[in-house]
Amino acid sequence: MIERIVNPEATETPAEATEELVLGETLRPKTFAAYVGQKLLKQNLSLAIDAAKHRGEPVDHILLYGPPGLGKTTMAGVIATELGTSLRVTSGPAIERAGDLASLLTNLADGDVLFIDEIHRLPKTVEEVMYPAMEDFGLDVMLGKGPSAKSIRLDLPRFTIIGATTRAGAISAPLRDRFGHVHRLEFYSPAEMIEIIERAAGILGVKLDRSAAEEISMRARLTPRIANRLLKRVRDFAQVHQVDTITRKDARAALHLLEIDDLGLDTSDRQLLTAIINHYAGGPVGLTTLAALCSEETTTIEDVYEPYLMQIGMLERTPRGRCVTPKAYAHLGLTPPKVEK
Ligand code: ADP
Repeated sequence: MIERIVNPEATETPAEATEELVLGETLRPKTFAAYVGQKLLKQNLSLAIDAAKHRGEPVDHILLYGPPGLGKTTMAGVIATELGTSLRVTSGPAIERAGDLASLLTNLADGDVLFIDEIHRLPKTVEEVMYPAMEDFGLDVMLGKGPSAKSIRLDLPRFTIIGATTRAGAISAPLRDRFGHVHRLEFYSPAEMIEIIERAAGILGVKLDRSAAEEISMRARLTPRIANRLLKRVRDFAQVHQVDTITRKDARAALHLLEIDDLGLDTSDRQLLTAIINHYAGGPVGLTTLAALCSEETTTIEDVYEPYLMQIGMLERTPRGRCVTPKAYAHLGLTPPKVEK
């Protein structure tokens, strides 16, 4: 896959991964007050947290879903802070065997929050052990083998699981049903994006004016992770060019070098749209064909390209396949074919 700066999932190099980790940690809001946007989600969760605290019980398990980079991991941290407990972080593919899950769960303390990223990738055998753990805080362990084997139940601490996924549809129904709260994270509004960028700039000590924040926000695909990444690139540019306060002109020049256009589309997005136009007269085209055309995995097309292209009205999903919209033609400077009546 081609590495893309606007890919909300990827970090480009190991060095960037480390930087992202450090940067991500410092930039991550720790409280509801500092977490920008997602108003309804915050209202629902803070209500649940207050009620649970009042009852002296753990909060019901929470499932957060939505495109990558919108703040699911960050929200898990906020919830733990607001609950005054500690957060353990793991991911679906990292829990390979039932035993891995058992050791994770038995090491939790009462009230702890366990965050499982990419929960749709939990192996089936692990998922089955999760059910009683989530429902009754119990773990069924098999002792011995063969006819003399017997199952005993271990009591677990009372914890909260926060599951995160980019694909809610890929989670089995029994697992989904065990989450008391299921919430979708929305793309951020342009005003929220500006707030996120100005907040991050403040933390990083980058001086930029409102017009520069606007310019970055326009190109950040309504996604905080991309905004942070673009901000870093603009900061590098300003440093090299010895700019004191970054303006729209500087931001635009920096982002122009990255070939990100004013809607946040990069070469790969434009290639995807152009491929549908050139090879399939604008669509419809099936997902597998589209993935092959773009040399990408179908999951990358679904998780990374499509949510934003659909959000900004460039692409439509129809029962017969994907279609580009007249807006996409206009953006690419092309004329849509005449529709025959
Ligand atoms: P996800 O888990 O959905 O992929 P993350 O929680 O890792 O996304 O968020 C990516 C980055 O975006 C974080 O490093 C954080 O700094 C920033 N971020 C996410 N949501 C917000 C928000 N609501 N306000 C400010 N920054 C945010």
